Amino acid sequence: MAEWLIEAIEAGALAQNYTRLLQIEINDGCVTGARLRDTLSGAEFAVTANQIVNASGPWVDAVTAASGLNAERMIGGVKGSHLVLPRFAEAPKQAIFAEAADGRMVFVIPWNEQILVGTTEVEDSGDPGDARPTGGEIDYLMTSFQRFFPQSGITRADVRYAFSGVRPLPLSPGRKASAVTRRHIIYDHMPDGAAGLFSIIGGKLTTAAALAREAVKKMGIPVPEPEPVTGIVPAGEVEETCRQWAQLAAGKAGIRTASAEAIAEWHGRRAMSIAAAAARDEALRVPLCRHTLHIVAEATEAFAHECAVTLGDVLLRRVPVALGPCWSESCTREAAQAIGRAAGWGQSEIGRQIENFEEERARFLHPQGGN
Ligand SMILES: Cc1cc2nc3c(=O)[nH]c(=O)nc-3n(C[C@H](O)[C@H](O)[C@H](O)COP(=O)(O)OP(=O)(O)OC[C@H]3O[C@@H](n4cnc5c(N)ncnc54)[C@H](O)[C@@H]3O)c2cc1C
Repeated sequence: MAEWLIEAIEAGALAQNYTRLLQIEINDGCVTGARLRDTLSGAEFAVTANQIVNASGPWVDAVTAASGLNAERMIGGVKGSHLVLPRFAEAPKQAIFAEAADGRMVFVIPWNEQILVGTTEVEDSGDPGDARPTGGEIDYLMTSFQRFFPQSGITRADVRYAFSGVRPLPLSPGRKASAVTRRHIIYDHMPDGAAGLFSIIGGKLTTAAALAREAVKKMGIPVPEPEPVTGIVPAGEVEETCRQWAQLAAGKAGIRTASAEAIAEWHGRRAMSIAAAAARDEALRVPLCRHTLHIVAEATEAFAHECAVTLGDVLLRRVPVALGPCWSESCTREAAQAIGRAAGWGQSEIGRQIENFEEERARFLHPQGGN
């Protein structure tokens, strides 16, 4: 996703993080622009546009409602929850997809030096930003995990954290969540009196590039032919390519091979520009904390090219070391000082970033679920 963001910016797009769309402006049945708010400064401003794509996922209906559109509800949100467990002696080295007791597919994936178990399908019509795993969902995932790995010795008390997301599926009353189509729909709001507005309903990460091309064509913008085809390469080839990137990055930046491998695994070919930045400045070759192979250059590149703004953007989303197995408050302080020095933050800014980060991290980690 970060690579797509960088490509879009390089192609001339303006991407702005922490910006909320308040309302789409419509005049005489046509879209004319939008009112936006910078949620960090609170400043409001307007942009003009004769076409808008409402790609706000499970918030699609909230955006059209806030814009005063008389559109039918389109999204039937389906929450999916995940657990993160510690690694154990016979932990799988590859992703496993297997059948749970109720016949659904559940996955167990090695992730960030831990084990990720998911997922559930629970109808959810609340604010997607408030979605939390329930105790029942955690029990369901733990039961499935223990069926696959009865000897692991891992129990519910070992759950490191649990989190949820809401799939923006098309509203399908009376249909089981698993039976709802995963295909996307690009809805044209012309019949609702908003020509130039398109809402994206459903969709998957795996089909996001095709969806983007389809949306662009709907807007009357030609897409070069032939359209690119997403290739599937054997797992071994991916590993070999990563190994080559890691070797090049290690040589370029003068960092340990293990560190370059960790960087290539997470950032792919972006490892090269991270290595180039690290080569220029010793402070960028410092590890983010003493437990991790990831380095400060990954944070500064995220600020420079991936629209990261806060410590949370870096440590929870772009380089999610703070979701790793050994993270503690002292790691936060160490990473904040190293990143702050490189980013030119003063001590009071570092203190403010740490406070906001700890609050955000605590909100995200729900080891025992809600109701
Ligand atoms: C539990 C779960 C499991 C999934 N499993 C898979 C899978 O196995 N394979 C697969 O390919 N896909 C999977 N997906 C689907 C994939 O993640 C979705 O396609 C994707 O989340 C939808 O992408 P999106 O960009 O449309 O929406 P989101 O990723 O939800 O992004 C919407 C964005 O809009 C922003 N937004 C909302 N309101 C406003 C506003 N007023 N102003 C500005 N911004 C706003 C939100 O902050 C958010 O960043 C899964 C999704 C979930 C939740």
